[in-house]
Amino acid sequence: ATHIEPFLIIGNWKMNGDRELLQRFSNDIEVTAPNGCKQIICPPSVLVTTACDAFADHSIDVGGQDCSQHLSGAFTGDLSPNMLVEAGARWVILGHSERRSSYSETSEEVAEKTAAAIKAGLTPIICIGESATDREASMHLEVIVDQLEASTPETLQAGEAAIAYEPVWAIGSGVSASEDQVREAHDVIAKWLIQRRVPLPVLYGGSVKATSAASLSAIQNVDGFLIGGASLDPESFNTIGANV
Ligand code: PGA
Repeated sequence: ATHIEPFLIIGNWKMNGDRELLQRFSNDIEVTAPNGCKQIICPPSVLVTTACDAFADHSIDVGGQDCSQHLSGAFTGDLSPNMLVEAGARWVILGHSERRSSYSETSEEVAEKTAAAIKAGLTPIICIGESATDREASMHLEVIVDQLEASTPETLQAGEAAIAYEPVWAIGSGVSASEDQVREAHDVIAKWLIQRRVPLPVLYGGSVKATSAASLSAIQNVDGFLIGGASLDPESFNTIGANV
C-alpha cells in the first residue's frame, strides 16, 4: 500500500498518565522507533516538559491535546500554542471528538486553532469522524467531507498538518472500524486533499491495538494511527510500531 512516510504513531493519553508512566516509557521503549515509524506522545499539558526530558535520548516527539486559537490574553484556563512550543511540544491534537462533544467545539474553531498552532510552529493533528447516527443514516462520507472543509483553514499548505479520521463509534469501543470502512473513508479524504492540493498524512484512530496494527496499516492512504487506550502501555505502544 502507498503511504506518506514516515508512518506516524501518535499516542493520545487524554486525561491519563503521570511522571511515573513517562519514566516507564522512557525505560521500556527502544531509543529508535521500530520500522522507521515516527512516534509521538501527547500527554496532558502539565506533563509536556517532563515528557520532553524523559524522551531526550529517544526519537519520540511530544505533543499537546488542544490549544487556544489565541496567542495570549484574558482567557482563563486556556493554553496558547506558543506556550506548548515553549514547553517543548512539536504537535497538537485539535478537534478531537471528545472536545467537539463535551466542550461544544465547532469545526470553525478547529480551523482557527489550526491556523494559530501552525503560526506558533506546531504541526496540528486535525480530528474528524462521523457518529454512529451519521453512519446509520449513510451520511458518514458527507459528514467527513463537511468537517474536513470546515476544520481546515484556507491558508493550509502541504505537509503543515495531519488529518486523523476517527469514527466516534469506534473510539474506546475495543473494536476498530472494519478494513472496508477505513479504506472508504481514507480514499475520500485523500481525494479531497489532492483536489485541494494539500497533501497531508491521514491517520486512522479508534481502538487501534497491537493485534490490528498490521492489517489497518496495510490499507491504502493510511499514513499513521492516533491511539488512545493502547498508547498508555509502553509495550503495546511499541508493538503497534513493530507490527506496521
Ligand atoms: P482509542 O482512542 O484508541 O482508545 O479508541 C482513540 C482516540 O480517541 O484518539
